[in-house]
Amino acid sequence: MKKSKKYLSIILLSCLFLCTTQFTVYATDYVLSGGGYYTSRVTITNNMLTFSSYFSPAQSAWNNATSRVNITTGLWSNNTIDSYDISDSYWGLNGISSTSFYIVINSVKNTSSTAQSVIVHELGHVFNLADNNNILLATVPIMSNYRDRTVVKTPTSIDIAGVNASYNISGNKY
Ligand SMILES: [Zn+2]
Repeated sequence: MKKSKKYLSIILLSCLFLCTTQFTVYATDYVLSGGGYYTSRVTITNNMLTFSSYFSPAQSAWNNATSRVNITTGLWSNNTIDSYDISDSYWGLNGISSTSFYIVINSVKNTSSTAQSVIVHELGHVFNLADNNNILLATVPIMSNYRDRTVVKTPTSIDIAGVNASYNISGNKY
């Protein structure tokens, strides 16, 4: 019994070592949509009735990341983030053209603990990131639909690399 436990430990440790060394993060781990907003310097009108307090942290999460994203808020903008009851299973929705976008956060499905994660995710779509459901990544990207929305609330190095591969230093899309 004792011996088999020892072998089990060795097997588990070997697996842990192999897994750790195997899952190295490369910049190409990001997935681009090819349809993002033309500039990463955007002004947004925040109309979120239910989750307004979660917008600021989401905005800061992108602005404070080492990415070429700069989000400001204004009384008027072509771009809006809103919250209301979407009568389906979506956590959030977005509509993106080259000159404007809107984001809707599902006020029925989201709670205070998931709202920021969903806003940061939807903003990722605005900035040319696609859903990234690669389960082999060592770090779960904000763009993963499998992320724990109560835990993953900020862009990861993978997401930031994707944005920086999409926009030049002036914030314009390549
Ligand atoms: Zn998505």
